[in-house]
Amino acid sequence: MQILVLPGDGIGPEITAATRQVLEAASKRFALGLDFIEDVAGHESLRQYGTTVRPDLVDKARHADGIILGPTATADFKDPAHGEINPSMFFRKRFDLFANVRPARTYPGLPARLGAFDLVVVRENTEGFYADRNMEVGSGEMLVTADVAVSLRRITRACCNRIARVAFELAARRRQHVTIVHKANVLKLGDGLFLEECHAVAQASPGITVDDIIVDAMMAHVVRAPQRFDVIVTTNMFGDILSDLTAELSGSLGLGGSLNAGTQHAMAQAAHGSAPDIAGTDSANPFSLILSGAQLLAWLGRRRQVKKLEIAAGAIDRAVEAAIAAGEVTRDLGGKLGTRETGAMLAARIAS
Ligand code: NAD
Repeated sequence: MQILVLPGDGIGPEITAATRQVLEAASKRFALGLDFIEDVAGHESLRQYGTTVRPDLVDKARHADGIILGPTATADFKDPAHGEINPSMFFRKRFDLFANVRPARTYPGLPARLGAFDLVVVRENTEGFYADRNMEVGSGEMLVTADVAVSLRRITRACCNRIARVAFELAARRRQHVTIVHKANVLKLGDGLFLEECHAVAQASPGITVDDIIVDAMMAHVVRAPQRFDVIVTTNMFGDILSDLTAELSGSLGLGGSLNAGTQHAMAQAAHGSAPDIAGTDSANPFSLILSGAQLLAWLGRRRQVKKLEIAAGAIDRAVEAAIAAGEVTRDLGGKLGTRETGAMLAARIAS
């Protein structure tokens, strides 16, 4: 089983190396037969090939069983005509990775200021307010005059329906509760359509409790009592913002795992960015991408009905839990370990 690893920018190479080490240990222990191929995307690719994503990388990614993409310096990539393509957007769009699944939970051993919680944000990933992915040709943003900008937000019934189905299917495997987060009071058409489609899927999902909350109020609710949520489904930008908040509430943005899944392909990516402020200091928390790697294994296991992939994913989750309980963590979680030590420690826990 082939996994394409693209280390990305900033802390990307550090956390992908740790993630690869942990997945290699899991592969050995559970006889998964994972074969890692590494390539470049982001600044390193721009430097070597004049583009952040080479066209032939698409074929490599298509033939791989899964992709691990380290965070990339998206804000630096401004001009696609000069090879500055947002790699994250590129793969999500090219492989129609419409479901961005971002779990957030508290861990014994970390202060849970808001009490224990365990939730998942399911974010639509292919349209919404993202100017670089909601048009077939051209951009969703326009400069009408030097002083007037217009940003288009695309919402389609089909995309609302398929993301709602992912959320309800996930809730059926969890605590049977879906919260729809929207702004239909103002975005009456776009979010109205989203809300309508989510409720239609709810109708076809007996046994799942459903509620809906306006996104601004949601910020208060999630900070007040995160334990009231199980699966939260929302549109692209709201999900992006909300999931950084829930990751930080769980202890650190460095715990923010994230899987981008379509029907044929899936890509593990941390929820956070390339963290240039700590890049190269061996202090980044690799748990985010390691947990994303575990999500990828679980996704592959469910899709292909290979139980040992799901068992390996569970073992990685439990090793992270045990490491946190033992205080074997990076600085952001109050520990002393470096990124490299964290990867080695977790690989050793999985091997034993
Ligand atoms: P960021 O998410 O990179 O960092 C925000 C804060 O969280 C920083 O203080 C950083 O040090 C900290 N942090 C992030 N990950 C951490 C980890 N694993 N361990 C410990 N601390 C961690 O946000 P930013 O600085 O605004 O963005 C940096 C770059 O990343 C920008 O170019 C942005 O566009 C890009 N970005 C990329 C992605 C992606 O690749 N999916 C996502 C978000 C932002």
